[in-house]
Amino acid sequence: MKYCSDCGARLSYRIPKNDDSPRFICDRCGVIHYKNPNMVVGSIPIWQEDILLCRRAIEPRYGKWTLPAGFLENG
Ligand SMILES: [Zn+2]
Repeated sequence: MKYCSDCGARLSYRIPKNDDSPRFICDRCGVIHYKNPNMVVGSIPIWQEDILLCRRAIEPRYGKWTLPAGFLENG
């Protein structure tokens, strides 16, 4: 991946802020071009008639409550 599909600028390959893996990033428009599989998995864990939630530890929506879910990473 060499160019941004949103604005056409050349991409850099580096680790974005608050991430742990290198990504293709557009230095002009700021879009991060993720190359992950499209599969997303989520669950609704129930314990003693209550639904258990997770508190997000990363952006976006840091500190907000959510259902446990996420993307898979390549590799
Ligand atoms: Zn761009």
